[in-house]
Amino acid sequence: MLLGKLCAPVENPDRLDALARKLIEAGLKQTAPIDHGRDAIDAVHSADYVEFLASSYERWAANPKAGPEVLPNTHPYRGRGSALAPSAKPRCSVVNAEAGWYIGDLNCAIGAGTWGAVYESAQAALSAAHAIIDGAPAAFALCRPPGHHAFADRASGFCFFNNAAIAADLMAQRAGRAAILDFDTHHGDGTQAIFYGRRDVLFASVHTDPTTYYPYFSGFADERGEGDGLGANLNVPLAPGSGDDAFLEACGMLVEAVRTHRAEVLVVSAGWDAHRDDPLSVLEVSTEAFARIGELLADLQLPTLIVQEGGYSLEASEQAAAAFVGAFCSRHKST
Ligand code: ZN
Repeated sequence: MLLGKLCAPVENPDRLDALARKLIEAGLKQTAPIDHGRDAIDAVHSADYVEFLASSYERWAANPKAGPEVLPNTHPYRGRGSALAPSAKPRCSVVNAEAGWYIGDLNCAIGAGTWGAVYESAQAALSAAHAIIDGAPAAFALCRPPGHHAFADRASGFCFFNNAAIAADLMAQRAGRAAILDFDTHHGDGTQAIFYGRRDVLFASVHTDPTTYYPYFSGFADERGEGDGLGANLNVPLAPGSGDDAFLEACGMLVEAVRTHRAEVLVVSAGWDAHRDDPLSVLEVSTEAFARIGELLADLQLPTLIVQEGGYSLEASEQAAAAFVGAFCSRHKST
């Protein structure tokens, strides 16, 4: 882990190109996303946050002293004694203050191309969701940036729009009860928060124990949902050093939760960063285990949307994605 050092981001275009090549080799047919507009995005993300993402770079760049990217240098306190309710939006419109409010960590700098990229990434997930709604048995949304650390009104962990949540919300309305199964090595804190009070969309995640690992502040086993959503949230955190057996056992628990939820459609937040060769991984998961996960998920025999999340070794991500997709397609009846 790099602390306090400037470095090239591990989330970069190279991994998308590498994955696209590998998935086409594995037999998937590539299509460009269709622009489905903002309605499904606005259904998940708050209007003020979407406006911040759309407008902040231009307002930032208008300051002759500004750096090349929007980054926060202040953060609000939202707890006891604060004038700010947790769901409030900032009362000032200074872009620096808004950056502190809407950007959760320094992995989410906003540059000239950010809005276009995050919008298109969400459209990739939406296009795949529409394909499923129209009857496709499965689709892979090769999104970049990823999405599962994006909250309704906060960017963090390379994520701006929560692609999986946007797709799942739409599919829950159009295609029946939905479940999101997340096997990225980081807890999908944004996805959990978006659906925490809802019973119609299950969120089930295996990830590294957040006690000592990003995102630190959520992903614990006692987070089960609240209100109507109580019981529709399942976290299975794994200790650093856990290998294939623990990872596959946890995935089996998630699959059982999807069955118990009586899901009619499945969204998979697919990250390859639990792989033992990933530079961010503290788990010991093998390429072969990703093939087993592909089989486990295929055996649910549900319409399945796979959404790209993390994975920061090109080689390990390629191997894991190819193993997963190959196994999934060989077991899923309709693919
Ligand atoms: Zn991750």
